[in-house]
Amino acid sequence: MDACIFCKILKKEIPNYTVYEDEHVLAFLDIFPMTKGHTVVIPKVHGETICDLEDHVLEKLMVGVKNTTKKIQDALNPDGFNIGWNHHEVAGQSVPHVHVHIIPRFNGDGGKGLHGIIKKDSDTPVEELAKKFI
Ligand code: AMP
Ligand code: ZN
Repeated sequence: MDACIFCKILKKEIPNYTVYEDEHVLAFLDIFPMTKGHTVVIPKVHGETICDLEDHVLEKLMVGVKNTTKKIQDALNPDGFNIGWNHHEVAGQSVPHVHVHIIPRFNGDGGKGLHGIIKKDSDTPVEELAKKFI
């Protein structure tokens, strides 16, 4: 996709600080890091969300996430990570090319886990919602 900033990084039209690369993924330091070593991992094919990508691409992406996480662990020795992605604008996605955030966490950094993103209870009881998935 021509206008996609991450495709431009893949084509080397925009520089990046590479953390890990293989045939299928590129991982680079986020320019607005949430913590030291915050990295994004992108597939080398364009897709806006995981639902737009082939399964084999997603499999390789997850392997790339693992290898990148290990590399960050070795380089920076964090105490843990938050690993995930924003899916669509309402959830915070600003770049329309799938990217997995790897956010190193350090004891006492004051951050929260996934449960800290939002807390707005559904009006529908869980038992009722479950019926939609039968
Ligand atoms: P999201 O908000 O989930 O779409 O995440 C996009 C991320 O990409 C943000 O954390 C940005 O800081 C990061 N970002 C945008 N442009 C660049 C770039 N040229 N190099 C590195 N990271 C970038
Ligand atoms: Zn793209």
